Amino acid sequence: MGKRTKLSLFLFIDAFGWEVRQRHPGFLEGLVADARPLETILGYSSACDPSIISGLVPAEHGLWSSYYYDPANSPFKWTRPLALLPGAIAARNRVRAPLGRWIKRRCGFTGYFQLYAVPFRHLPLFNYAEQKRIWEPGGLPRGRSIFDRMAAADIPYFVHDSDAGDDARIAALLDAVGRQSIDFAYCSFGKLDALMHAQGNDHPDIGILLRWYDERFRELFRTAEAHYGEVAWYLFTDHGMHNVRGSHDLAADIEALGLEWNRDYAAFYDATMARFWFMNDRARRTIRDLLGTHPRGRLLADGELKAHGVWFEDGRYGECIFLMDSGLQIVPSFMGTRPARGMHGYDPADADSKALICSNKPIPGPVSRIQHIHRLMLAELGLDETVRRDAPWKN
Ligand SMILES: [Zn+2]
Repeated sequence: MGKRTKLSLFLFIDAFGWEVRQRHPGFLEGLVADARPLETILGYSSACDPSIISGLVPAEHGLWSSYYYDPANSPFKWTRPLALLPGAIAARNRVRAPLGRWIKRRCGFTGYFQLYAVPFRHLPLFNYAEQKRIWEPGGLPRGRSIFDRMAAADIPYFVHDSDAGDDARIAALLDAVGRQSIDFAYCSFGKLDALMHAQGNDHPDIGILLRWYDERFRELFRTAEAHYGEVAWYLFTDHGMHNVRGSHDLAADIEALGLEWNRDYAAFYDATMARFWFMNDRARRTIRDLLGTHPRGRLLADGELKAHGVWFEDGRYGECIFLMDSGLQIVPSFMGTRPARGMHGYDPADADSKALICSNKPIPGPVSRIQHIHRLMLAELGLDETVRRDAPWKN
């Protein structure tokens, strides 16, 4: 079998931020031609991943946080009886995990769905943003992703199976490369993110896991070079990881105001953010007054949300957004009932928030934000000219 012309590999290690890499300089040592930090997007992977594959910010592609208040159109209305489950049972992971899979199936979602710790009594008030699998053509609510572009240009590509573990993902990718059946691969790995949530960002197990990635990636690159005339690879991530230094029960502060849930206000407590919707002015004033002087975090101004590309005119993801001080976690939140050792989703300006990209090639000019990775993918595929015509590069 002769060599196929060219292979572009885009390898994503969730939470492998710039600062994490600085602590592990041996990772892919000798192979990296260029590396740089990238600014992340305020929010979580639910916001970052769609931006990486589209070059758009959340306000443009429509995906920011996972859940948003939308009682009229909630796909979860039918889950109301689950509110009758005794709290101790409903909180158990062994119960929530299969219930989450069942809910996902019944709602017909194909995207990344997590029930997290959303209380069943509140679930029917919320809608879910990432209902469709974003890793295929037509996956974004608005705009086009690299997968739409590749489908239109008939480019054979590999993308990870979201239900497979990291080992199975790399094995499947190695297989596709060995068969020379693709020109492009986008493969995401999740173990490091999970490990650092559990152990913090400087635990010894991180070095062990990175050595595993290092070995598998070197094998992948060797295989690629044996089967392709030219191999370009990019290793990148969407955000870093902070160590958690404390937690705060923000919901208790709000409940102490004496306002009535879903009469006066509704809230979604993410791990590092709280988002609010108001049914009257008194509730808006009371909650904003509390958050405006809160010692553990700050209200984000509209201008700041706009600058981050997460401003939604209709207040869909929250009419008012509160961000915790870096390293402080909301506990309990709708994302989890217990404190983690590592967390992301803080101020993008923090060193520990920084994402990264490195490559076996020089990284061209203006690549400073995670959404610019999309531009690199287009350039590798020779599609950048076509796209420049219908959408000039946005910063
Ligand atoms: Zn994470």
